[in-house]
Amino acid sequence: MAHIALQNVQKAFGPVHIIKGANLDIADRSFVVFVGPSGCGKTTLLRLIAGLEDVTDGKIFIDGKNVVAVPPARRGLSMVFQSYALYPHMSVRGNIAFGLKMAGLPKAEINRKVEAAAATLNLSPYLDRKPRELSGGQRQRVAIGRAIVREPKAFLFDEPLSNLDAALRVQMRLEVTRLQKQLGTTAIYVTHDQVEAMTMADKIVVLNGGKIEQYGTPLELYEKPANLFVAGFIGSPRMNFVTDGAAAKQGAATIGVRPEHLKIARDGEGWPGTIMVAEHLGSDTFLYIDCGAIGTLTARHVGELSLAPGDRIVLSPEPARIHRFDKDGNSVRA
Ligand code: ATP
Repeated sequence: MAHIALQNVQKAFGPVHIIKGANLDIADRSFVVFVGPSGCGKTTLLRLIAGLEDVTDGKIFIDGKNVVAVPPARRGLSMVFQSYALYPHMSVRGNIAFGLKMAGLPKAEINRKVEAAAATLNLSPYLDRKPRELSGGQRQRVAIGRAIVREPKAFLFDEPLSNLDAALRVQMRLEVTRLQKQLGTTAIYVTHDQVEAMTMADKIVVLNGGKIEQYGTPLELYEKPANLFVAGFIGSPRMNFVTDGAAAKQGAATIGVRPEHLKIARDGEGWPGTIMVAEHLGSDTFLYIDCGAIGTLTARHVGELSLAPGDRIVLSPEPARIHRFDKDGNSVRA
């Protein structure tokens, strides 16, 4: 259990400023995801919290205590890496037990903790296997097991599912969130995948160029993005942006409408256009529409729509779902 707070945390590597003043309050027992494009500083921010990198300036509080001078091993946090970082010559049992052995715990207690963690992670049948005899998902579970037995104040996950195939990622995503809720341990999770962020997080930190663009619940980010960057980053397919005269009519430099909030009609009021591509997924239909001066827009319809390239349609945004942005790209609330 841990409450983690960042106060004006800065990090520079030589002359290059990577983290530009991060302020954050992570509630005890919460699951917080750092998301953002490659190179935005997610891993660096996580490593600063872990103590694997020194801050250039600022404070990091764990349960009210500034830990910037505390070495990683004494911060009470456990990290889980994308690469698993397992010892290849040790069994699953040996890998999970390693940290506890180093800490000098009695053998019986180590066994008890390892077996409890293995049961939680469905690893009991594999305790005597070597990592090479496991699937990717099982290896990642061993890495998580090793983190769990240390009973950390918080878990720090660095893209732990990136090496897994798509189906396994979805399954592990559920397992990690279930486990975090069951253990009640604060978790910080780094990913560049916004779907992972939306599905796993209690709260999301959107990072861009070393700056926190927004911190909020998944639905807050979806419904009230603070700026163009967050609006474009969260949501799939991406939000449509219109800067044509249609935006000025709404009193904004840019307006944004998500593909699922565009009504599709054969005729009537709205933005006329020609379908360029129609994707029929059965559950959804995605249309890419050339709307002339307005631009190319994406529309999503739940279910099947029998429309094809070349068809002329009219799009109308749901009025309550239009996002307005000023010339600096900041959100303007009506
Ligand atoms: P990714 O999703 O690609 O892993 P990220 O958001 O986690 O990206 P970081 O790994 O935190 O990004 O890196 C942020 C920036 O800091 C990058 O431009 C990177 O090149 C730079 N950087 C990271 N570590 C160092 C280092 N030790 N020395 C110099 N620059 C570094």
